[in-house]
Amino acid sequence: MNHVMQNYGRFPLTLIKGQGSRVWDDQNNSYLDFVSGIAVNIIGHAHPRMVKALSEQAASMLHCSNLYHIPQQTLLAGKLCVLAGLDRVFFCNSGAEANEAAIKLARKYFYDQGSSRRTIITATQSFHGRTMQTLTATGQDKVKIGFDPLPQGFEHVPLNDLDALRAQINAQTAAILLEPLQGEGGVNLADAAYLQGVRALCDEHGMLLILDEIQTGMGRTGKMFAYEHAGIRPDILTLAKGLGGGVPIGAMLATEQLAKSFGPGTHGSTFGGNPMSCTAALTVLEVMEEEALLINTVQRSQQIFEELQAFAQAFEGLLEVRGQGLLLGLECNCDVQPIIERCRKHGLLLLAAGPKVLRILPSLNVSEGEVNEALEILEKSLKEVLA
Ligand code: PLP
Repeated sequence: MNHVMQNYGRFPLTLIKGQGSRVWDDQNNSYLDFVSGIAVNIIGHAHPRMVKALSEQAASMLHCSNLYHIPQQTLLAGKLCVLAGLDRVFFCNSGAEANEAAIKLARKYFYDQGSSRRTIITATQSFHGRTMQTLTATGQDKVKIGFDPLPQGFEHVPLNDLDALRAQINAQTAAILLEPLQGEGGVNLADAAYLQGVRALCDEHGMLLILDEIQTGMGRTGKMFAYEHAGIRPDILTLAKGLGGGVPIGAMLATEQLAKSFGPGTHGSTFGGNPMSCTAALTVLEVMEEEALLINTVQRSQQIFEELQAFAQAFEGLLEVRGQGLLLGLECNCDVQPIIERCRKHGLLLLAAGPKVLRILPSLNVSEGEVNEALEILEKSLKEVLA
């Protein structure tokens, strides 16, 4: 008997090794990995820089409590703040924890101001995590079933509908929490004009803009952070997934004004920001710069987007191509699992975003040749399933 809890629906596949964008199963079959651990392995598997940096760090110190100063944490915080245009970072270990921290900081900030604002507005179809607060923040009922009583103080509005948001705002509204590009909810893009409008509404009403870039951050959309496409900046930003390139790390960034509300003892994490995870994130940043991964992301995105559009013209069952950078979705008029299964049989790993959207999430250093190979497998699989 396998004693692991059965909370994941798993594919019948055991992956044991990876190199770049390729992974191998326990039967020594190889696959092109266009899932990347769900947007985590952004510099591919077993990158030599990562192997070296982590080995050296492991030989020196894996963990050190936040009772003490951690130089790698200080260095990483500085680099992230310069990139994001924010001032302070709290480190944790996952996306849900980063969003928990964001929700707590927003509420604590208004509490410290003597204000009664506590409500967080989020978008329908959003996904923010599996803890009690973050599943309540999530705009999808399926993640909430059986877990009541749910925490209070969350409301949902449709994405890209500024009037709906305006109508929802009242004296209790503390913040709006959005993914600039919804991943789990179906690869749904928040329009640049919508994000600009949300920023303006936040400024007008004195509420905070929290952007969840756990899936979109760290270059996934072709900019370091997806909000750069709209020329705006959040008050609070959350990151995880790609940040550590496979080593668990989450981060919540905020302005100096807000960060004052997280004084000593207000929040914490045993493992958050330890030397090992910060070394991983620093290495990801180095590789991104040295290998010009933002440029590769834009180029490979264009390559995939154009070909997917050609598929959408050629196959009747395909409806729309959407997304940004290397977070792309292909909406079908049918269940996408049979397509994912065919792709797997032919040596390509893909995933879904909801029942009818194929999600394509290669590492940001995927090559032109690997993309061509993946697209050939996808075309062959589409022919087998849809023809
Ligand atoms: N927010 C977004 C946008 C996500 O895509 C995810 C995970 O898929 C999360 C939050 C939760 O992250 P984690 O699974 O690391 O808790």
